[in-house]
Amino acid sequence: MKGRLFVISAPSGAGKTTLLKKVMATVSGLVFSISHTTRAPRGGDVDGVDYYFTDKNKFTSMIDQGLFLEHANVHDNLYGTSSGAIESQLSQGLDVILDIDVQGAAILRQSKRVEGAHVFISPPGLKELENRLRGRGTESEEKIQLRLKNAEVEMAAAKDYEYLLVNDSLEEATNILTSIILAERARGHRHPSGEPIDMVKK
Ligand code: ADP
Ligand code: 5GP
Repeated sequence: MKGRLFVISAPSGAGKTTLLKKVMATVSGLVFSISHTTRAPRGGDVDGVDYYFTDKNKFTSMIDQGLFLEHANVHDNLYGTSSGAIESQLSQGLDVILDIDVQGAAILRQSKRVEGAHVFISPPGLKELENRLRGRGTESEEKIQLRLKNAEVEMAAAKDYEYLLVNDSLEEATNILTSIILAERARGHRHPSGEPIDMVKK
């Protein structure tokens, strides 16, 4: 049985990481895809848990070897999802969460190599997004400004996603994201490939 893919995007500071941690603490059979990035670790980041922190040379060489399912330049750093890790997790029947930006999600939709449920997480507004980014206290003023500028472009991509979730109340947003995952698992009683499950044949 193959696992399912959940592609989740949000402007930086919308609360995606907080939300995913809460959902993953209660929903079993879900794993997080650990991306490679050239961004420097920030407070609390653990190499091999939050990201594989990689220098630019190694990242470029991985691109050249075709090791990424998708990769993109986000906020002036490179980020990418390695195909091998995802395929291994999916083949174990695990559902995989891809926390990737709007460019990466668009690449996956266009490539049609992988099917997945695409979820966009929005903050209640840009002012609240700014408050959350500042409240997190992990970025310099320059980086906050870059992330806020990019947020306006990213918000325009929300329409391309199957699901739109506004993270206003954290509790409500956690319930909605959990519901989306459970509903996707029950969808159509078929494998992600579209084939009927064995029970239908019996
Ligand atoms: P992202 O992963 O989308 O960049 P984070 O999960 O790091 O965002 O959240 C950014 C900040 O906003 C954190 O300080 C977090 O505690 C806070 N936050 C997350 N969700 C909410 C919410 N629903 N209401 C208020 N603050 C929130
Ligand atoms: P952060 O630096 O705040 O952890 O992440 C910045 C942005 O990079 C977020 O929008 C996050 O979803 C995105 N991102 C993280 N990993 C990947 C990846 O593997 N591919 C792409 N395209 N974006 C990623």
